[in-house]
Amino acid sequence: MLDPIDTGKRVYVLDTSAILFGFTSIEGIQVTCREVIEEVKFGGAAPYRAELMKNEAGAKIIEPSQKYVEIVRKKMSEVGEVGLSEADIKLLAIALEFKDKNFHPVIVSADYSIQNMALIFNVNVEKIIHRGVTRKIKWISYCPSCKWVGGVFKGGRCPRCGARLKRRPTSLSSK
Ligand SMILES: [Zn+2]
Repeated sequence: MLDPIDTGKRVYVLDTSAILFGFTSIEGIQVTCREVIEEVKFGGAAPYRAELMKNEAGAKIIEPSQKYVEIVRKKMSEVGEVGLSEADIKLLAIALEFKDKNFHPVIVSADYSIQNMALIFNVNVEKIIHRGVTRKIKWISYCPSCKWVGGVFKGGRCPRCGARLKRRPTSLSSK
């Protein structure tokens, strides 16, 4: 985790969409998890790779303690939330861990499932889709459960296993 001297600081926990949207903050610390960086690398459009790498360098990669990952999983099954990927679960766990250590975590995400879980855990959320967005994003659907990937996001269920589909950005263009 971070140096105790940073306690009380705002910690922005960035998901894949936050990094692809180019979220930056002038104050506080930006963190993410390894799975998000992998999604950015393999889901992002090649021409934007350099820019993404720059953002990536600004976010510290954190591995959450297993204890917090389990707290998130337990709560997910209690409330019946099935729309979270491994990356999302880790981001929530990271936010909870920072909260317990008296930092002020803010999850930055465009995803409704992660926003919903953050609300349940009383963690602040920055809903990036509603901020001043300077890029257009093309989305694809994928299944967090069986890894099915489809072309267009319809907000529906996975045709293979029935889990609720998620979406992730695949390419970007300037407005
Ligand atoms: Zn599926």
